[in-house]
Amino acid sequence: MTDRAGSPSPKTSGRRGSCTVVVGCQWGDEGKGKIVDVLAPEAKIVARYQGGANAGHTVHAGGMEFVLHQIPSGVLHPGVRCLLGNGVVLDARQFFAEYDELAARGVQVAGRVGVSARAHVVFRHHRALDRATEEVAGRAADGSEIGTTGRGIGPAYEDKTSRRGVRVADLLEADGKEAVRRSLARARARLAELGAAPAPVAEPGDVDEAMALAERLGGVVADVGREIDDALAAGDGVLLEGAQGTALDVDHGTYPYVTSSNTTAGGAAAGVGIGPTEIGAVTGVAKAYTTRVGNGPLPTEFDDAMDARMRDLGGEFGATTGRPRRCGWFDGVVAAYARRVNGLTGIAVTKLDVLDTLPEVKIATAYRIGTDVHDILPATARALAEAQPVYETLPGWQSPTGAARRWSDLPTRARAYLDRIQEAAGAPIVMVSVGTRRSQVIRLA
Ligand code: IMP
Repeated sequence: MTDRAGSPSPKTSGRRGSCTVVVGCQWGDEGKGKIVDVLAPEAKIVARYQGGANAGHTVHAGGMEFVLHQIPSGVLHPGVRCLLGNGVVLDARQFFAEYDELAARGVQVAGRVGVSARAHVVFRHHRALDRATEEVAGRAADGSEIGTTGRGIGPAYEDKTSRRGVRVADLLEADGKEAVRRSLARARARLAELGAAPAPVAEPGDVDEAMALAERLGGVVADVGREIDDALAAGDGVLLEGAQGTALDVDHGTYPYVTSSNTTAGGAAAGVGIGPTEIGAVTGVAKAYTTRVGNGPLPTEFDDAMDARMRDLGGEFGATTGRPRRCGWFDGVVAAYARRVNGLTGIAVTKLDVLDTLPEVKIATAYRIGTDVHDILPATARALAEAQPVYETLPGWQSPTGAARRWSDLPTRARAYLDRIQEAAGAPIVMVSVGTRRSQVIRLA
């Protein structure tokens, strides 16, 4: 007989570690890399669950700047294991370039990074297809050009969902080379259909390159779901790092101007191979204003003069592509939507310091579309393109915040602005970032 009120069974006696998802609340580039970098010392594992080499996570540490595209931001903390889950599409060339660069700059990477055997591989021909598709769409000028990062993400996910993809595990099989050849042949046929000339892929060069990379991949392949499960069973912390943001999610974003994966927290468990019940917290990262790269509606977009000013103040140029980012006011409708679709338990607001000099700041609290007022994101890009934001204007604080380390260090007006952000989003602010350096952060939970 078991005494129900007494000691629990051995299975439940150990305290499982905490598993937190870090997800972008807007259109990407919210500063997730910095937030993961701040949280990483409390974790044993940091794992990416989707996206590819499109992400450009900028982290400042030890006086150096690192832009991480594939390897999770936790890599700058010795002792943290960094994993790429099955939901990621892996550009092995980019991955090892980054791996080698980190090693050359003195970061211990060997034995600390792992890639799921189930992750799909992005080949050079996926990049070529991505670019050719965009080029054709651009020529057609029919609104079908997405403004992708050109990293082959969409074509690789297309192959995955149409069950033609090549995974890391497949590359390591005896017939791995054949699988690459088939993938290349299909891409060639498609490129020819698109009229992309000259054929930007070549055999045997590309296939040989893929196989050389495969050999290296053999040394880093990992069972990501199992490693995470073991870490949680041992009571260790795990961070699941999202790429891009909620409004770029293939289901919940501003379709079709989205990326090709589930960027939202719901995709995290599936993207690393654990159950959703393991996730204990979801931290949404939101920039204190809004940016977007690529095409598609951006309701709170600034006029040209203000756009240029904010781009300058915030250094809003793509970390991967160098493209200028479109800038706008903080969008409370998007933030509330992000709270709901991700189940946010807290918000990390980044780049507050960028607004330090502005005489006033605005938050969109609703959209006017035609004669109706909406407080949720409409399902079509067309409706969103018509949305006129309803703004609430607050006075700017016009004093520097970069040295603030506690809530009480912030100017009253900056606190009032943050209060409105958390009210609009419906989730508490747990962190505020006030500069690029690791130390420039206020932790509230
Ligand atoms: P793709 O993911 O390269 O296919 O691009 C699809 C859309 O997502 C485009 O609008 C890109 O600009 C956007 N996007 C992709 N990755 C990022 C990112 O890391 N930050 C911001 N936007 C991104």
